[in-house]
Amino acid sequence: MNKVRLTRVAWAGVWRRTLGILALSTLGSWVVSELIMFALGQGMNDVGMVLALSMPTVLGGPILFYLQIKSAQLSEANRRLETLASTDWLTGVLNRRSFTSQVGRALDRNGGGALLVLDADHFKTINDRFGHERGDEVLQMLAGAIRDGVRENDFVGRLGGEEFGVFLHGAGFESAWQTAERIRTGVNALFVTSEGVAQRLSVSIGGAVAGADSSFSQLFRSADERLYSAKHAGRNRVELGGSLDEEAVAALTAAIS
Ligand code: GH3
Ligand code: MG
Ligand code: MG
Repeated sequence: MNKVRLTRVAWAGVWRRTLGILALSTLGSWVVSELIMFALGQGMNDVGMVLALSMPTVLGGPILFYLQIKSAQLSEANRRLETLASTDWLTGVLNRRSFTSQVGRALDRNGGGALLVLDADHFKTINDRFGHERGDEVLQMLAGAIRDGVRENDFVGRLGGEEFGVFLHGAGFESAWQTAERIRTGVNALFVTSEGVAQRLSVSIGGAVAGADSSFSQLFRSADERLYSAKHAGRNRVELGGSLDEEAVAALTAAIS
């Protein structure tokens, strides 16, 4: 806890709360002192006034300031722990548990959206050719390319191994398709190289657009089926489905691709 350094904003909060509470205590002390002296039939003299106004700060000020610092450090430590618990250690995107629950909550709010499930193509070959450590770096490159292809508030998570999930808030079929294609082409512009050997990266993407009351598991199943189709159709492809019927999907896919 001692190592938690407070930001300027947190320090400002510590001072604001300390001074605010002290101002209220001083006011309270003055009012109570005046009432007591009045009840005793004596007016407030100068010494009484100085004591009433200074005692809260003299006695409570340092303790209050110390407690406010500790409280701000605790909040900061909690915030860091929450981030740590929800982040994938390797790639820095959300971990599976956090991604699943955040998408679930977004769906419950019924704002609509689309789920993309991305799987790196021939990733085993990358590990075999370049080594597991290089494979880890490739996973970081993939996470970066995915983040670059989506908006700041969209969710990106690592679902496990070389599989990622993306939730696009409020996206319909067309914008989900465009985003998926942007990610796919972004990844496909990347290479992994070592000692004169280079391999182009690619991902296959399956996606599903949320219906009025889609649950995460329904949406995931649908997106995962599409991912499977994308793999079977040759990889480095996007396949999208969802709440629309097959004909509508086929017509939209033909119009876009
Ligand atoms: P496909 O195109 O069909 O997806 O082929 P693939 O080789 O990507 O799929 P497969 O499921 O056969 O292999 C996935 C590989 O991903 C196997 C596993 O060793 C590797 N992998 C899973 N997690 C990690 C990781 O954290 N780091 C590294 N370097 N490799 C990982
Ligand atoms: Mg794979
Ligand atoms: Mg996989």
